[in-house]
Amino acid sequence: MILRLASLGLAACVAAGVVSAQTIEEIRQRMGVGGGAGAAGRGTDTPLVEVPWEKIGDKKLFKDGEIAMGKDPNAWRHAETPHFVLHYHKIIDARKVARQAEFYYQQIKSDLQVTEDRYDRKNHIFIFEKAEEWKDFRAQTDAEEWAASFACRSEVFFQSRERDGDFAANTLAHEITHTIFYRFVPHRVPTWLNEGFAEFESGNAYAKFKGIGGGAHANVRHSAASFPIKTLVAMKGYPEDKKDVNEFYASSARLVRFLINKLDRKRFLPLVQKIVEGAKFEEAVLAVYPDKFKTFADFERAHEKAGI
Ligand SMILES: [Zn+2]
Repeated sequence: MILRLASLGLAACVAAGVVSAQTIEEIRQRMGVGGGAGAAGRGTDTPLVEVPWEKIGDKKLFKDGEIAMGKDPNAWRHAETPHFVLHYHKIIDARKVARQAEFYYQQIKSDLQVTEDRYDRKNHIFIFEKAEEWKDFRAQTDAEEWAASFACRSEVFFQSRERDGDFAANTLAHEITHTIFYRFVPHRVPTWLNEGFAEFESGNAYAKFKGIGGGAHANVRHSAASFPIKTLVAMKGYPEDKKDVNEFYASSARLVRFLINKLDRKRFLPLVQKIVEGAKFEEAVLAVYPDKFKTFADFERAHEKAGI
């Protein structure tokens, strides 16, 4: 169900400061975006080292992380991988999460052609197993009542089991993608862009993790993706009417897929950077792709022609 996937986005979080930049080349250098980063290898085993809380290297948590941790860190088990700190109850779930998390990290870094990750913290992932435990935690946060998992800044709060007891792998991919994106763009980004990226890239990365290709059509929702671009990029958050939510996700993912797969993946993060610096989407497009589009109508036509 779609609402299982809807995360808080960054709207609920305090945005960090923004530094303005001049040229696309400067933005790329500042963000550590280059060319030709190698593709991630599939399923390399991530060593999972269980350690007591006192021995964890990066213990810094944001507000929701502090709430999840509670007064007694020993109520959780803890482990660390190169980019993640995991908090869990069952090692079998933690191993699964660790393996997928590091794979997605490498895949997304490579897809966005990031050569240098400048975020100096680890992502924390809390793996909730019991519905009661989740309910207690969720009620103390700003998360919607219907949220079954969510991501905020570099933290993931993940309910590991679907209602039928299966491991919630798709949800995990989507939420982790949000927090990996945050590493490369640690600022408030518009909801459509945040969700569109998580929706498109998580489908892509999950398909590659499973060894089933991925690519242009990964994770397409069964919706027409027909929001006009100008309507979509003017939206301040999620649609008010829940019946439009699927369409919103599908349209957002379609636009991000177009930007990354059809235009130029090296210019995706510079485009995002322009937007977080305050440019309207229409202005950012013309600034970042002056060689491709003379007017925004040209961009709209190219997007339309590319199909879904
Ligand atoms: Zn999301």
